[in-house]
Amino acid sequence: MERIAVFPGSFDPVTLGHVSVIRRALPLFDKIIISIGVNSEKKSMFTLEQRMNWLNDIFSKDSKVEIKSYSGLTVEFCNEVNAKFILRGLRTSADFEFERGIGQINRKLSDNIETVFFLTEAKYTPLSSSIVRDVIRNGGSADGLIPPEVIF
Ligand code: ADP
Repeated sequence: MERIAVFPGSFDPVTLGHVSVIRRALPLFDKIIISIGVNSEKKSMFTLEQRMNWLNDIFSKDSKVEIKSYSGLTVEFCNEVNAKFILRGLRTSADFEFERGIGQINRKLSDNIETVFFLTEAKYTPLSSSIVRDVIRNGGSADGLIPPEVIF
């Protein structure tokens, strides 16, 4: 039985923090599906196509990584793609509280799926997609925050 994990998020845009978590988690799984959650109420800065293209470029040489998008409940998507694990990153205690709630509700919805957490690398603790969006919006340089493949 393949060990498949879903890494759900908006990736608007993908940051070096996301990439670090994915690369560190790869030895644990046979496949990681980076899954862009599409929420019609949440306006993104970058189109779904652009976000998917960047992820495909970044992981083009990693045969164990797939990129998909989904809408609706993450656990339902996991069941569709046969994933028994949800991968998430933890930066701060605020992340922990937020993730605890989601993780426990996901488990109530589907108790065959476990959430696996990776602590962020210390240097990426202050990094988030929303901070990167702010930097970009205000004309700052996002060097060192996002992978070089993220070109806009
Ligand atoms: P969401 O839209 O759910 O906030 P994100 O795209 O921001 O999703 O992030 C997806 C996952 O990546 C979350 O588990 C988040 O905690 C994690 N993550 C985001 N930034 C970092 C970072 N700098 N270091 C480690 N994990 C991160």
